[in-house]
Amino acid sequence: MHVVPSICTFCGVGCGLGLRVEEGRVIGVEPQPGHPVSEGQLCAKGWACSFAVEPAGRLREPLVRENGRLRPASWEEALARTAEGFQLALDELGPSGVGVISCAHASNEDNYAAQKFARAVLGTHNIDHCARICHSPSVAGLGRTLGSGAMSGGIADIDQADLLLVIGADVTENHAMIGARLLRAQARGATLIVVDPRRTRLARLADIHLQLRLGSNIALLNGLLHLILANGWEDRAFLAARCEGEAALRHHLANFDLAQCCVQTGLALAELERVAYLFSHARAAFTAYGMGITQFQSGTNNVIAVSNLVLACGQSGRPGTGINPLRGQNNVQGACDMGCLPDVYPGYQPAADPAVQARFGAAWGRPAPALPGLTSLAMSEAARRGQLRALMVMGEELVVTDPDQNQLLRALRALDFLVVVELRLSETARLADVVLPAAAFTEKDGTFTNCERRVQRIRQAVAPPGTARADWQILSALAACMGYSGMDWPDAEAVFAEMTALTPLFSAMDYPALAVAHGLQWPCDAAHPQGSPRLHERGFPRGRGRLLPVSQVPLDEVPDADYPFAFTTHRLHFHYGGGAMTRQSPLLERETPLALLFMHPADGAALGLGERQAVRVRSRRGRLETRVHLTDDVPPGTLAMPYHFREAPCNQLTNPAQDPISRMPELKACAVAVEPLAPGVTPRTTERHGRR
Ligand code: SF4
Repeated sequence: MHVVPSICTFCGVGCGLGLRVEEGRVIGVEPQPGHPVSEGQLCAKGWACSFAVEPAGRLREPLVRENGRLRPASWEEALARTAEGFQLALDELGPSGVGVISCAHASNEDNYAAQKFARAVLGTHNIDHCARICHSPSVAGLGRTLGSGAMSGGIADIDQADLLLVIGADVTENHAMIGARLLRAQARGATLIVVDPRRTRLARLADIHLQLRLGSNIALLNGLLHLILANGWEDRAFLAARCEGEAALRHHLANFDLAQCCVQTGLALAELERVAYLFSHARAAFTAYGMGITQFQSGTNNVIAVSNLVLACGQSGRPGTGINPLRGQNNVQGACDMGCLPDVYPGYQPAADPAVQARFGAAWGRPAPALPGLTSLAMSEAARRGQLRALMVMGEELVVTDPDQNQLLRALRALDFLVVVELRLSETARLADVVLPAAAFTEKDGTFTNCERRVQRIRQAVAPPGTARADWQILSALAACMGYSGMDWPDAEAVFAEMTALTPLFSAMDYPALAVAHGLQWPCDAAHPQGSPRLHERGFPRGRGRLLPVSQVPLDEVPDADYPFAFTTHRLHFHYGGGAMTRQSPLLERETPLALLFMHPADGAALGLGERQAVRVRSRRGRLETRVHLTDDVPPGTLAMPYHFREAPCNQLTNPAQDPISRMPELKACAVAVEPLAPGVTPRTTERHGRR
């Protein structure tokens, strides 16, 4: 047996692990000793990484659809079918009729290749990925206020904070090693404040839990800011030296109605005053937030409200401070960094900037796409209208994770051509015309970027099953099939080198430098050859930090007589995303095998429901059947459900109403009705989906 150093493939914490390899198989994992993020530990998911890539059940050869069924095919046939599918759509509708959904689990090299394939080969900016439904408001909101949407501190800053403010993030479940670090900081004396409508595990352990009403984030943050400004608790020196927009913000909050704020949030004024005082008087406050801030139609403004609070108190640019969006998937930061977004090239270089277009056009030998690109949800809408005909989905389980599942299925079925690149026959792959088998992270070289901007190496430990290939190799072969030779890289290192040559943020990075000490944090350029553990120490990327007035935005859908419960989604410690990888592990599956509906015992009593009784849940968009779990994790009147389970997909229910700036759907809030099923009735499993 030998051990190959790698990075956990689940969440954005980016823990270091060793792959235990024996006779060409990954038989297990172990923590990397001395790793700066995970410090020789892993969470339950990390320990189960090897199950996610087990060869059993993996795709070993391409599949093509014939007479309604998927059958094995050669790579030549599958690639020719894919090239033809894209070409027919291009001939009919031009570049606006095709698109690519890239993957936050794939490597930076795969994601760089995906956006280059979209832009240079298909001639379209229609490239996006699941950051759209997790942290696109962070990119938009912090881009407006600071000039960068990434985590401004490092994970190690937690150790230097004396106050930890966690807003809308279930950290012990979703970013377990950061959750452990927060609790360790609390144990050494830091004050832990959690803002969450649910009583999460972290909320139960916190010094203060502000259990605000679902979706009242801006009311709360503005209330705290009003109290800070009214009492003179702001950091005047920081505001004068580093920020702009203070007068407009003061004017906006001058007549703020605190009584109304208490009604909107459901919180007592004394609670708000205590938190406002503690946050503004902390020596170093580390602020972290998650999808409880971003997944609303007010997502971008929610992020701006967080930014206003942090800037007004000067809690940025020093050890232990910063605004820290906790990115979801292992490489969602990297997929954004690589330009898998419709409006930016790699390194957030604006797609609309003629100088940027000219540079990439010259380097790639193809002119920049002429039209602005579509987001992933806009691509779905275009497909439903017949305005997008051919789509590549690279490793994302859209059918399980996107909002309003029925509308998404309509969109995918309306396509003339769908190609899916996957490890296994996922729910999305079952709908495809062509399925291409992909190599897992243990079977290829490359890099992942964690939530603190740390670019780390992954290394090939074993061969892929059958004829599976790395995503960048698949895209390279497909590009050649479509007459473009500019993606003919010899190896992953060459892909990375091309990216760094075109991307100033990464210009001083290369594979040997990344191997020295557990990676480098961007920006890493001539001025920062050792990377940048902390951002914004002297200035912000946009110059001054901008304070922007924002107001509470009502939820798109609130409970009424027909749909009397507020409904929200959450994740569980033992599963990840659509469950495609974690549910391969019998150990993780044993812990939580069911999608339960979390309901307060008072609501259960009112409906005559006992623990695990079967129910039907309906929204205006769809329905599902499951069992209830009676718990005070949720307040009366609010229900919650995890989204890992295809048998009871909560995205049958969720609302696609979107944030007008980032196009983030309001996944965290909608209204539902609940009906008990007859005693003894087993909940019906939602059926698998077929192409036609
Ligand atoms: Fe993997 Fe995240 Fe757990 Fe670390 S915290 S072991 S990266 S799932």
